[in-house]
Amino acid sequence: MRLSHAYVPTRKEVPADAVMPSHQWMLRAGMIRPLVSGVYSYLPIGWKVMRKVMRIIREEMDSIGGQELQLPVLNPVEIWDESGRNTDFGDEMFRLQDRKGRTLILAPTHEEVICDLARKYIQSYKDLPQIWYQIQTKFRDEPRPRSGVMRTRQFIMKDSYTLDVDDDGLNAGYQAHAGAYRKIFTRCGLTFHVVGASSGLMGGGRSQEFMVESPYGEDALVLCDHCGKADNLEVASSVPPAAPESSGELVKIKTPGQKTIQEVSGFLKKSPREMMKSLVYASDEPVMILIRGDHEINESKLIKLFGPSVRPAHPDEIIEICGTEAGYVGPIGLKRSITIVADRALENQQNLTTGANEKDRHLSGIDLMRDCPEIRYVDVRNVISGDGCSECGSPVRVFNAVELGHIFKLGTKYSEAMKAMYSDPDGNEKPIFMGSYGIGVERIVAACIEQNFRPERGMLWNRGLAPYLVHLIPVNMDKEEITRLADALYTDLVSGNIDTLLDDRKGSAGFKFKDADLLGMPIHVILGGKWIKEKQIEIKNRHTGEVVLVNRDQFMDTIEKIIDSLS
Ligand code: ATP
Ligand code: MG
Repeated sequence: MRLSHAYVPTRKEVPADAVMPSHQWMLRAGMIRPLVSGVYSYLPIGWKVMRKVMRIIREEMDSIGGQELQLPVLNPVEIWDESGRNTDFGDEMFRLQDRKGRTLILAPTHEEVICDLARKYIQSYKDLPQIWYQIQTKFRDEPRPRSGVMRTRQFIMKDSYTLDVDDDGLNAGYQAHAGAYRKIFTRCGLTFHVVGASSGLMGGGRSQEFMVESPYGEDALVLCDHCGKADNLEVASSVPPAAPESSGELVKIKTPGQKTIQEVSGFLKKSPREMMKSLVYASDEPVMILIRGDHEINESKLIKLFGPSVRPAHPDEIIEICGTEAGYVGPIGLKRSITIVADRALENQQNLTTGANEKDRHLSGIDLMRDCPEIRYVDVRNVISGDGCSECGSPVRVFNAVELGHIFKLGTKYSEAMKAMYSDPDGNEKPIFMGSYGIGVERIVAACIEQNFRPERGMLWNRGLAPYLVHLIPVNMDKEEITRLADALYTDLVSGNIDTLLDDRKGSAGFKFKDADLLGMPIHVILGGKWIKEKQIEIKNRHTGEVVLVNRDQFMDTIEKIIDSLS
């Protein structure tokens, strides 16, 4: 591509409203432009990278026997009512009305359409297994679209679905996807983690997420660097660190106006980990949950233990059960006896401090085994950095991450709800076993930028996703021999099938170099003083920093060698 004819509107300034480096960079490099909140146009350079990602995805999906199809974005709401997800998706789903007043939705994902196809057109075990995939625009009315293309209201997803006769078939399809996903993310040059995850809205059985570390990520991961065990914080468990030995006597102490862990620990000069949070929740029945002062409740675990309707108790419920307001409540001396559970990290803990069920009073010296022998211990907290790995005991690390892909074993959840059946060799009707597998195309691009953009150096694309591999930069455009050479090299590179960008614009060397660093192609070729004086072409491999000078005859060979060496 000749830059003089290309639409690559680069910008020097960092856009004020963009926080994530990838978002800033995509705007500055002229890859994207916003249209309305959470909706972007992809300009030529941006779309070129997106197409490279999609090509890698297609190749890897085809190699596991995936068949590409294309499913409609406009869906009748009825199939979403059948699966129950018209309600589950709630406001995240875009709904519209056709001229006859019929409700249609813009599909946020496609399990329902797949099930509808399967129930109508898959009849016998002979039609199975199938792997169907598409690369398709999805619509989700995200509450806070931000972070550029990482979370948008219209985005491109590769989604695939496996249809099998039984669990063994599903396992095979799932494993094939896990392998293909590893290859896709590796070919995109990403450093990623594969983690055990919760299935959330999708339902079904086992699921794994493909994640990249990012301070802007909305998920948290728990990783053991020693044995490699990795889980989403939603489902991670850990071995609580050993409790310090120190028995004490039960003492009631005055704590006027001190309610929060911060306030009480400051007032009593104790560390938050010597405190105990006593929290009252309500589902069908009220329940008190005890966790260590420096720990946090994990919402997913709470729901798993007490059901989806679990919620913090209202102030009047707390007073009715404890006789006082939140902040002074605890497991000892309740007005009314209720179920009490404690987090596992409190097992065998002594000398704890929590509320005394009396205003402005706390109890210290609590030994849970001695003072509350009947409570049940459960895993209900978030793992924190430094906890022991549940597999090998080594200290784990907790960090933020972005989800790029998610693979699910759905089993028969959707096929039973929507009656997607097949007949087995004996003529019995059985539900089809389904798997569902998604990848966000934009998130791959943005993650790749996050991992390879440095403010001091600019962007650096890897071989797989680089919009162009070679950036030709003639710097003395007023010299005819330079423009002639630039044209000749450009023709050679393009006929050698090497994606090349030629900066044939009039402009200073500084202006061109700035744009070249910003755009981030892996190889820069500089045509300037060295050619005029010594007939030498300067080639820079930006991955190694190495600069070589070659003459015209060596040019193509050298470029091809450098490209081969790029990862
Ligand atoms: P998140 O938890 O980040 O909202 P999700 O669990 O809703 O993601 P899935 O329904 O599993 O995501 O969708 C599959 C993939 O589609 C995700 O792994 C992600 O890469 C991508 N994706 C999901 N929502 C968005 C969005 N709003 N914008 C861009 N990509 C998205
Ligand atoms: Mg979501």
